[in-house]
Formats: sequence, C-alpha cells, structure tokens
Amino acid sequence: MLKANGYGHGANWVADTLGERAQGFGLARLCEALALREHAPSKRLLLLGTLVDDNTLKHCAEARLDLVIHRLEDAQRLSGARLTTPLSIWLKRNVGMNRLGMSHEDFVAAQQLLVGSKNVKEVIHMSHFSDADTPRAEVTEEQAERLFSSSRALGSFPLSLANSAAIIAHPHTHAQWQRPGIMLYGDDPTGTLTGDNALRPVMHFKSRIIALKTVYPGDGVGYGRRWQAREQRLIATIGAGYADGYPRHATDGTPLMVNGQRASLAGRVSMDLLTADVTDVDHVKVGDEVTLWGQGVSAAEVAERCGTISYELFTQVSSRVERYYD
Ligand SMILES: *Cc1c(COP(=O)(O)O)cnc(C)c1O
Repeated sequence: MLKANGYGHGANWVADTLGERAQGFGLARLCEALALREHAPSKRLLLLGTLVDDNTLKHCAEARLDLVIHRLEDAQRLSGARLTTPLSIWLKRNVGMNRLGMSHEDFVAAQQLLVGSKNVKEVIHMSHFSDADTPRAEVTEEQAERLFSSSRALGSFPLSLANSAAIIAHPHTHAQWQRPGIMLYGDDPTGTLTGDNALRPVMHFKSRIIALKTVYPGDGVGYGRRWQAREQRLIATIGAGYADGYPRHATDGTPLMVNGQRASLAGRVSMDLLTADVTDVDHVKVGDEVTLWGQGVSAAEVAERCGTISYELFTQVSSRVERYYD
C-alpha cells in the first residue's frame, strides 16, 4: 500500500525500493495512481475505494489501473461504460467495517454483472478488516468468513483480505493477495513482533538543537509555561514544530533521542520549535542531532503520547521538511 505518498515516505522511492518484491501497489486517489503510473509504467496499480464516475473509469482504462468496485451501482456503471481497455476489478465485500463494500446480495449481483462484461478482464474478491489489530480475534474470523462464504458461492476467485495486522496476527486470512501498509514502513500495529521478527523503522525524523537554557525551580517553558521546573534543569530548543508535522498534542514526557540518549518533551510544541528536558544527556551541545522518531524512539511510542497512531505521524510530515533517501 503506497497511498498517501507511501505513508509519507515518498511513493516513488518506496516503489523503487520494493521493486519486484511487490506484485502491485495500492493507491487511494486517482491523482496518486496517475502520478505513480508515470513513474512505474509497467507496474500493476490498484485504485482503492473511491468515487466511481465516468472520469474515474476512463482514467483507469487509459492508465491501466485496477479498480475497487464497492457498490452495486458502480458495477452497473462499469458494465454499461465504453472503455478502451478492460479493467481488472477488485470486488469489495463489506464484512463489518461498514465503510465501503457490498452486502452478500449486492456482491453476488455485482459479480454477475461483471463476469459477462467486455469491460472486465479479471475479478478479485476483497474485504477489509475493522479489528485485525485488536485482541478480538473472533471478530476477524467472523469477518473473514463473510468474504470466504460469499466468494465460495460464486466459484473460485483470487482473494485479498489481510492488512498488516492480519498478516501478522491472523494467518488464516492469508490468500492470493496481501495488502501490507504500515508494516512496510517499520511499524507493527499488533505490537507483538519481537527479537528477530521486530520491524525496523524506515523514517527517521530528525532535527537539531538550536539553543540550550538552564531553568530554575518555578520557571516555565514554552507557551502557557505548561511545563514547570521543580529543580534546576537544562532545556534544549529544537528546530521542529507542528508546521513540520510534529504533533502539537504531544504531552510532556514524550520521548525523543539526543546523541543516542533519551530525553523528554517539556512544554507545548510550537509552530517551528519544540523544547525538551536534556539534563540527563551527556555532553549535550547546540547543533546536536535529535531524532523525533525513528532509531531508538518509535513513531508508535510518540503517537501513543499524542492520542494518535504512527500512520498519522508519518503522513503529516510537512513539505518543508527536507527528505534524504538512502
Ligand atoms: C491502507 C489499506 C491497507 C493497509 O493497511 P495497514 O494497516 O497499513 O497495513 C490495506 N487495505 C486497504 C483497503 C487499505 O486502505
């Protein structure tokens, strides 16, 4: 899954890096898919659940994009369209998320419309889990069974169910196609992979210390002086803020790495700057590199302190942050 610019990592770079190890790439917007088509002329690309109108269908045919059909009405539109090339269709069953996808009856009706259509080259059956990253395994089993039984009733078709969490935690959902997203970028949504199986972060979000200040008991730091010193402490001001994509809701104590040692956020994050208590970091000085997430401090851990998930942090790193690829 390379949607949202490869979860903020740069879709072209992710595509090149994965190369032949991926049989295809999934995108969420027509513009994303068309942009990646320019970069990867011969790769299989899938446009995920979107508004299916004549414009979408025309572009899918011209750019050779696979398309998710998630409503019976869209299947009708597709079967009645005049397309230059037939499409590979991923027919989506709603199995409990209640966001996109069809009931069993609509799924069957859509399938019947599409198998005989000159606009359809191939049909793959898919669904998406609501609870694969939670301990409620029985919910995922039930949801998987909904796709299995709808699909079985229609014959023998390639299936695609699993996102990262299901790939890691629910092997019975593995089928012809898997759809890994966040795990490609080094976060384990189940939090269960350890030791040799642990995932490594791909993104390292870094900045530098631009000032150091000693504060004394009763001194506050940042807007509203949210963080207050109880004793003499050393505060580093770092050149990153919410305009760079560091979450403004990060709480005091959110970890970051300075010189390979942990330090903690102290005070409200501002637009261009954030402040951290670096009293316990050895040999700290202006210019030192700071890792906001990446090696030594996972995006998941930072996200947890801000009431969000790594997906949101990765996708919100802003355009003014310089990217270095290696
Ligand atoms: C984003 C997405 C995925 C990948 O989910 P992860 O949790 O990132 O692995 C899989 N399937 C669909 C339909 C998606 O939109």
